[in-house]
Amino acid sequence: MRRLFRIETLFALGKWAVSLALAFFLTSLGSLVIADLPQVERPPQLEEFVDADASAKLQADEAELRQRLQELSTQSEAGALKLQAAEADSAAERETFRAWIEARRATGDGVPEQDVVVRTRRLEEIRRTERQVRADLDATNAELADARSRLGALTDQRSALLAAAHGPFERAIFVRQARVFGMRLALTLPLLVIALWALRTRRASPRWPLWRGFVLFAAFAFFVELVPYLPSYGGYIHYGVGVVMTLVLGAWLVRAARRHRERRAEIVERSEDERRRAIAYDEAVIKVEKGTCPSCDNTLRTTDGAPVNFCIHCGLKLYEPCPSCGTRRLVFFPFCMSCGTHVGPDTPDAHTA
Ligand SMILES: [Zn+2]
Ligand SMILES: [Zn+2]
Repeated sequence: MRRLFRIETLFALGKWAVSLALAFFLTSLGSLVIADLPQVERPPQLEEFVDADASAKLQADEAELRQRLQELSTQSEAGALKLQAAEADSAAERETFRAWIEARRATGDGVPEQDVVVRTRRLEEIRRTERQVRADLDATNAELADARSRLGALTDQRSALLAAAHGPFERAIFVRQARVFGMRLALTLPLLVIALWALRTRRASPRWPLWRGFVLFAAFAFFVELVPYLPSYGGYIHYGVGVVMTLVLGAWLVRAARRHRERRAEIVERSEDERRRAIAYDEAVIKVEKGTCPSCDNTLRTTDGAPVNFCIHCGLKLYEPCPSCGTRRLVFFPFCMSCGTHVGPDTPDAHTA
């Protein structure tokens, strides 16, 4: 609410400054306390939930298999080179044999049976070697393919092992979140309870600026130190808490609106004089200046420029002639601004304390 007097405004600002300063220092102190807490254990790792024996065995098998794969692959490369050489040997020998036969035929020399047998045997020998090299290479390649497929099976087994660890891992994460939240709740819940109690009962107290600082501190602790640590559990808890808080806030608003209406109805029941005395001096002056009734908050109206002496809505008296000099004066002024007569029973101090 706007204040009529400058000094009042300054005091109000000063009280807010005290509230904010107290909230700031309490918050800083609180974060030191939180930082000094024994650090919560480190977050769980997925590997800790994998069956250790099975994993170790799998790892050993895999290492062995990879070693074997390496050997086989080298062997296969060597075999391919060897086959190439054998094929070249074989082709060269066949060519030599053909040339030898043709040369013999061309010169008309008879081909001795003995020589042909020897050379054919040699050719056979070379061909057999070539076949052997090819068979060896095929065997190596088959073993290589088999080792590769076994490695694939091991990889699948490892994936299955990790998948089995996932459930316990997620449960451990949730438990840890809940523990962290529980610690923070244990620290902030008493603050929240005290703040709510202060909000309900300490508002009229002269020490309210200090209590207000505490309430700000508690609100900050709630939203910064507690809310972000709510276990999410797939968003269920976050949204659930949101729904509950919205319901509580809505219920409070509805109740506050009803109480306000009841108070207003009660005020209208009272006599005009009683109502006028219940209105704070500076509030009344500011509202009348702005053209609203200090009692019912409706706009003050008049017709044909007639002076407004009463509120047309609730009948509150606003202006009256000074009993001493007859000047039209606002009834809320304690003194007549024309002749200085003390008219009102109240001085500003009595109302604005
Ligand atoms: Zn009125
Ligand atoms: Zn007067």
